[in-house]
Amino acid sequence: ATPTAVMVATGKGASLGVLIKGGNALEKAHKIKTIIFDKTGTLTKGKPSVVQTKTFSKIPLLELCDLTASAEANSEHPLSKAIVEYTKKLREQYGSPSDHMMDSKDFEVHPGAGVSANVEGKLVLVGNKRLMQEFEAPMSSEVEEYMSEMEDLARTCVLVAIDRVICGALAVSDPLKPEAGRVISHLSSMGITSIMVTGDNWATAKSIAKQVGISTIFAEIDPVGKAEKIKDLQTQGLAVAMVGDGVNDSPALAAADVGMAIGAGTDVAIEAADIVLMKSSLVDVITAIDLSRKTLAKIR
Ligand code: ADP
Ligand code: MG
Repeated sequence: ATPTAVMVATGKGASLGVLIKGGNALEKAHKIKTIIFDKTGTLTKGKPSVVQTKTFSKIPLLELCDLTASAEANSEHPLSKAIVEYTKKLREQYGSPSDHMMDSKDFEVHPGAGVSANVEGKLVLVGNKRLMQEFEAPMSSEVEEYMSEMEDLARTCVLVAIDRVICGALAVSDPLKPEAGRVISHLSSMGITSIMVTGDNWATAKSIAKQVGISTIFAEIDPVGKAEKIKDLQTQGLAVAMVGDGVNDSPALAAADVGMAIGAGTDVAIEAADIVLMKSSLVDVITAIDLSRKTLAKIR
């Protein structure tokens, strides 16, 4: 496209809340035949909340949540925020000061798996099966059953281990963005295939994918794995776009032919992307591609 056409299109994009970082992104967007969507915070609202809890030992629920929230207190992950929020409410119900946190040391993030911390001398692990395996916390059949029960309901089951014993679980639900299904089917009518990639487990992933009408899924994928999926598709000769919001999406956003970041996402994702969807609406994935197609059609 001519510099003028690019300028007009980026200006139009900006007025619609679609920030296109330069002519290259605009030119590549019209070739896209495959779009990879992150799940959490991209297809879903990214505002999860705790909807059910379970204890697997005699530990009182409040104590379990206090330890869990204290371990998660320094994390920016949406799941962490949901757990801290829930614990505050629970404390209020019990008449305790709501923002009390226990002393937490050695906090560590395990990307795509969870967090670990030393809370008042106890090793607290909060995360998925992978985290439990990494730290050799054994999974009982009771825990396995509860997990699959929650995952079949599209809930993420966050496990909590204290000194390597799984003591409880918090089931978290993250509602779909209302436009998600509509956008996927519209993209399909434009000849574009949508794929979902997520660090979350297979059962939850399948349930969400079914609801939005996506049939190809890659689940339990870590941040490096997400970028590798993009490269795999590119070696098949496909032009691939990635839509994501998280730190865990930034390698994939950078690897994609066109990386699109959700405006409400993290700064790292926004920096790694070629296009930023300022309104955080998935409809603007279509807006961006339309703009590119129209701009490039004009010069032909
Ligand atoms: P997504 O790819 O869906 O955006 P992430 O890669 O951030 O998700 O996380 C993948 C999975 O790792 C989550 O579904 C959860 O099971 C676990 N996990 C990640 N971070 C945390 C955390 N801070 N607390 C608990 N669990 C976590
Ligand atoms: Mg995400």
